Amino acid sequence: MTPASPLETRLLIHGERVAGLGASESILDPATGQPIASVREASAEQLEAAVEAAAAAFEHWAQSTPAHRSRRLLEIAAHLDAQADAYAELESLNTGKPLKAMRRDEMPTIADAFRFFAGAARMQGGPLAAEYVRGHTSLSRRDPIGVVGSIAPWNYPLMMAAWKLAPALAAGNTVVLKPSEQTPLTVLKLAGALADILPKGVVNIVCGRGESVGAPLVAHARVRMVSLTGDVATGQKVLAAAAGNLKRTHLELGGKAPVIVFADADLDAVAAAMRVSGFYNAGQDCTAACRLYVEARVYERVVDDVTQAARTLNVGAQTHPAVDMGPVISAEQRSRVAGFVERAVAGQHLRVTTGGRARDGAGFFYEPTVIAGARQEDEIVQREIFGPVVTLTRFTDAEEAVRWANDSEYGLASSVWTRDVGKAMRVAARLQYGCTWINTHGTMAREMPHGGFKRSGYGTDLSIYALEDYTVPRHVMIKLD
Ligand code: NAD
Repeated sequence: MTPASPLETRLLIHGERVAGLGASESILDPATGQPIASVREASAEQLEAAVEAAAAAFEHWAQSTPAHRSRRLLEIAAHLDAQADAYAELESLNTGKPLKAMRRDEMPTIADAFRFFAGAARMQGGPLAAEYVRGHTSLSRRDPIGVVGSIAPWNYPLMMAAWKLAPALAAGNTVVLKPSEQTPLTVLKLAGALADILPKGVVNIVCGRGESVGAPLVAHARVRMVSLTGDVATGQKVLAAAAGNLKRTHLELGGKAPVIVFADADLDAVAAAMRVSGFYNAGQDCTAACRLYVEARVYERVVDDVTQAARTLNVGAQTHPAVDMGPVISAEQRSRVAGFVERAVAGQHLRVTTGGRARDGAGFFYEPTVIAGARQEDEIVQREIFGPVVTLTRFTDAEEAVRWANDSEYGLASSVWTRDVGKAMRVAARLQYGCTWINTHGTMAREMPHGGFKRSGYGTDLSIYALEDYTVPRHVMIKLD
């Protein structure tokens, strides 16, 4: 796949497109392993200029009306809609995602995130003004925090940028955004539109690696909040660095979603959903349906069904119309996935029913993999793999299923499959996961929160709660006499 037009590789600092002056990073097409662009990261001086620009822009952006900010966000959404195909192609090229999925599933929701926050900016709520103390009127405000340092991962580059930019800007903050060093291309394309639509400095985009650009952004004294979507270990580093000047943190980290399948579930629907949600984005999804717990009575059938479903996935390069699953992001990620599977297979009780190996040839392909006979204590059940690997574990009763599902350091997403509404609701109420789907898995709504428990982090993306995260509640009191 070759890009239709020259790729944008410049940063955005104070409204200007400038080439990075730091080290050069080769950007690869994961389906071929070949370079598609070279992006230079921001130098220390450029990062400083980006933060200064954001701090200066905050003075007026924070004072603009919600209606004004809302209109700018709607313009960004309209731009994304108008150029949806170009963005889809570029994202697909840089990440290896199937182009049809990018067009159908991601682009409309990315634009809609800007639309949701454009509306939400004008409808924030809070306690009513009243005389809570005799002779004094109290009113509450929610004000923006200042410069937000936003750091995004490689698995959904443009979507994560949208989830970070839209609420931060709607609330009146200014932003220095660092995309992943592996997948900066769609955000760099968006930089052109942001430069046209927003005042100078409201959004600045700096590229670079975590240590050289991410860490100094987090440590910067004028950055008042850091929003990270990434690995748990990165979250811990960000939290430690943020302690230095007590900045706010908003952390969306990994996941290991349990899928509890009761014997009375619609088992055809389970298999169909696993085919999609177990392997979507080659399993590089923090909500991936990767950890099945299946009631003993139907366990063997579900193993067979999920295995058959995985075998029907067409694995290949992004642009092929029939492709369901692309490569993983890098050779390193593929080795990591392969390592998990190799260690699992070394355990006598585990059985790979399909896949379990890398594909020969160019690109970073790993076969859709199903592993049966997994036990709760197995590494492959406990740790996030972030690749196309699904495990199945047999359970005997709801108590055991809930206990095992919750026995995880992660707490982002989960699902429950049963025709018994009461059972579904009882189990859902006990799961320590930011999201529980019932008889489905993976569908998001911009109006609803996305966030986690435990090491999946804290802070909410999407919904009115995200807007709250990017503001500070304040009390203004007026003495009446
Ligand atoms: P990563 O943690 O390696 O990198 C994420 C970002 O952090 C990148 O931009 C990277 O350059 C930056 N970074 C790395 N070290 C840093 C440091 N010391 N200081 C500041 N920034 C630093 O994660 P990844 O491999 O890009 O993404 C995969 C991870 O993201 C998975 O664990 C996945 O579960 C998680 N994720 C979570 C969600 C969610 O909503 N919870 C969504 C998508 C991905």
